[in-house]
Amino acid sequence: MSNNSAHSVLEHYWGYTLFRPMQEEIINSVLNGNDTIGLLPTGGGKSLTFQVPALMMNGLTVVITPLISLMKDQVDHLKEKGIRAACVHVGITRSESDYIYESCLQGRIKLLYISPERLKNPRFLAWMSRCDLSLFVVDEAHCISQWGYDFRPSYLEIKILREKFPSVPFLALTASATPQVVDDIADKLELRKENRFSLSFNRNNISFLVRHCEIKTEMLLKILKSTKGSCIVYCRSRQKTKEISQILEANGISSTFYHAGLEINDKANRQQQWQDGTIRVMVATTAFGMGIDKPDVRLVVHIDPPSTLEEYYQEAGRAGRDGLDSIAVLLAGKDDKRTFSRRLADAFPPKDFIKKVYEEICRYLSVSMGEGVETVYEFKPEEMCVKYKLPINPVYGAIGILSRAGYFEFAEEMNTRSQIMMTCHRHELYSIDFSEHDENILTSILRHYSGIFADYEYIDEGFLARECSTDTEDIYQTLLRLKRKHVLSYIPHSSSPYLRFTANRVETKRVELSPEIYDDRKAMMEHRLGAMKNFIFDASSCRVAGMLQYFGENFIGRCGKCDYCRSIRPVKAFDCKEFEIKLDYFFNLIAPAKWLEINSLKPYYNQHFEEVCRHIRLMVEKGVLLSDGINISKKKKS
Ligand code: ADP
Repeated sequence: MSNNSAHSVLEHYWGYTLFRPMQEEIINSVLNGNDTIGLLPTGGGKSLTFQVPALMMNGLTVVITPLISLMKDQVDHLKEKGIRAACVHVGITRSESDYIYESCLQGRIKLLYISPERLKNPRFLAWMSRCDLSLFVVDEAHCISQWGYDFRPSYLEIKILREKFPSVPFLALTASATPQVVDDIADKLELRKENRFSLSFNRNNISFLVRHCEIKTEMLLKILKSTKGSCIVYCRSRQKTKEISQILEANGISSTFYHAGLEINDKANRQQQWQDGTIRVMVATTAFGMGIDKPDVRLVVHIDPPSTLEEYYQEAGRAGRDGLDSIAVLLAGKDDKRTFSRRLADAFPPKDFIKKVYEEICRYLSVSMGEGVETVYEFKPEEMCVKYKLPINPVYGAIGILSRAGYFEFAEEMNTRSQIMMTCHRHELYSIDFSEHDENILTSILRHYSGIFADYEYIDEGFLARECSTDTEDIYQTLLRLKRKHVLSYIPHSSSPYLRFTANRVETKRVELSPEIYDDRKAMMEHRLGAMKNFIFDASSCRVAGMLQYFGENFIGRCGKCDYCRSIRPVKAFDCKEFEIKLDYFFNLIAPAKWLEINSLKPYYNQHFEEVCRHIRLMVEKGVLLSDGINISKKKKS
């Protein structure tokens, strides 16, 4: 395949004959071995810019991407096309990952997707150094920047790749980055004389509209009734997604709702129904959308204002990926102005409060001073807040800041699989007194999961139940019994949030909140919130021009489609001839009365009413019309 040109690879695997703007430039830069940054808007076709070169180069392309669901989707799509791709993530077993690594070493895999956390694993890095690597791709590269709106500390792990594999080039891709963030990406990844390629972020098939209203659901219904086609409605609370969806259904608009708290199957079913057009409107939190490739979304409505233009642009940009005319509407209420200052206060509570939250978390989880590192706790902030009477939103803000400062990691949405590891030695097993039942189950476990003396392994209680001719509840209870006997450690599967201490507990007064962690980030957030607020409440210029300038583009002129541009559309000049013809028509309408009140023409000639009055005077002077100052009448022909 290495001799094939990029075009034939494109046509062979994807069936497309042409590259989209900027794709070819990025691909050429990558094939020339350069470090490259690609900035393409959502839907611009970023994936092909590394998938095509991956197939043309000899070695392995490693793609680092933040979401497991995204990597699984991409790998499935590639496999359908006969492309050898794989992904390793926390949800797969050790033997599965070993098999994938072996396939990569033998050159049977061209694209390997991983999450950044994997780079913390020395075993993985050691394996990588045995691989023939051709390219590292950093997808959603803005996540590496502290200045980005979606900073993920785990992205900083990526730096190690440059250190360990200095000759392998990087391709960093993102759909939303301000110039400062792009510089930071280049800096953090230590890119060498990189090539940057960016496409204008202007999506000229989308009309960006802001609608100020009292009752947002009324406005939403009005908009949905006057438009056609697939739609996403974004709101910020899970509860609201359900309520709004119910209102739409009650008004005869087919709709469903989606948020991160739904069961996996439920999410997949709802997404599918919306994707295939069975359901028109998806009411969702921002958990919905990443990785969804529905080209014909005609309308995206935001019920609540997003916090940043980056978020807004990404979400609104899910409209019209097929290039056809589409609308993005943001509904603004009079209380929304205050929302912005509240969000800042919640995200950055006072430093003393943050320190207090640190102390309370340690107390709540019974972590002693000088201990805790690497321990994991199931942790529901809401329950702690009820117990200690703390306000929930600022507590979430404090947890975010303490995580960034390196005290712990907090994961809210985790569907973890059950894991076990033996805590006693193999020879000790003989001296423990087991019932026959428990011994049978333990024997089965040891037969199927041989690595558990060395490390945690994922297990499947359903599988063990079938093997031992019992039910999953019995397996669960048996594992708990074995855990109590200190035979093994058992982490049952859970979808609960957890907190993992990444450092030992320190004295509260020694909790450090440096300017990079607190003050600088707060100032950044204030700036971003301010830009979003201006976008909504400053109606004095083209909304798209403002947004593009914020993204560092030199956009001159107006989009011609946003509500501002629509409001200042040039009005057609007043045409006297046309007016005289229309006047005949008005007289005919009211023929029996013969007299026509001049003011009754006002609604028809809004902007030109003064000219209408002037022309009427002229016609009276010429003797074509009679007038009593209020009404006019046609002069009878003598
Ligand atoms: P992004 O990651 O930039 O949001 P994707 O890589 O998901 O965009 O691509 C969006 C859609 O565009 C996909 O359906 C993809 O198959 C399609 N696409 C990408 N490149 C081309 C091309 N050259 N010709 C036609 N369709 C393309």
